[in-house]
Amino acid sequence: MLKAFAIKGLALAVALAASWLLPGGWAALAVVLIVIATVSFFTYAIVHPSSRFFAPVISRLAADKQIVALTFDDGPDPVFTPRILDVLALHQARATFFVLGERAALYPELIQRMHREGHTVGTHTQHHTLRFHFGSPAYVQREIEDAIAVVAGILPTQPKLFRPPQGLRTPCFASGWRRTRGLTCVTWSVRGLDSLQTTAGKIVARVSKGLEPGAIVTLHDGTGLGGGTDREPTLSALGTLLSECKTRGLRCVALSDAGAAVL
Ligand SMILES: [Zn+2]
Repeated sequence: MLKAFAIKGLALAVALAASWLLPGGWAALAVVLIVIATVSFFTYAIVHPSSRFFAPVISRLAADKQIVALTFDDGPDPVFTPRILDVLALHQARATFFVLGERAALYPELIQRMHREGHTVGTHTQHHTLRFHFGSPAYVQREIEDAIAVVAGILPTQPKLFRPPQGLRTPCFASGWRRTRGLTCVTWSVRGLDSLQTTAGKIVARVSKGLEPGAIVTLHDGTGLGGGTDREPTLSALGTLLSECKTRGLRCVALSDAGAAVL
């Protein structure tokens, strides 16, 4: 939060100085450019999956090993999560599931199955609300810790990985997240955008471009904020992507098994 205020203050000071020092038309242009640059910088810092400005993140694995990490958000879902687990098992692939606390509480047997089959279970807030991006540090902390408590009540180990909704790291998020000590924030290097209305072909086309050693791929087994409810395209794309991984000599690992490859 302090960083955000410092940058806004600096930008304001530079804008004011420009408006005083430069002649009329140039001063206005300089102020507009400074505002655009500041907004662009904040947008990058909050949205870009590899930006570490507000919070340290893992957005990819080391590229020197032939491994990729498939990740699934917003579940568990009683219809699609078991089918996704079936496809992963068929291909002997491991993955990471960033689950919602409220859904984990409804379907604990799916959380147990993920764990039993060698997948990593991380969390993705308790309720996946828009308020998470603008809420107080106490609200953000509660959303994160409530989800952890649910999963910790189901599994023998406490989840250590967290993915913020939409991957956004706002100043509000950073303030609350810092209170949850020891939690690693994970974003991605490529995503299927499969929470939107889409087709398997489009998901495969998007992900294939970034399917390289060290990639962290984001897909969805559940329905998030404003997302579509049909995960059939994801399921269909998953089989194709797992075959593609095999063709490219890439092994799909759970993030907790990636060890030193986690950057
Ligand atoms: Zn989500």
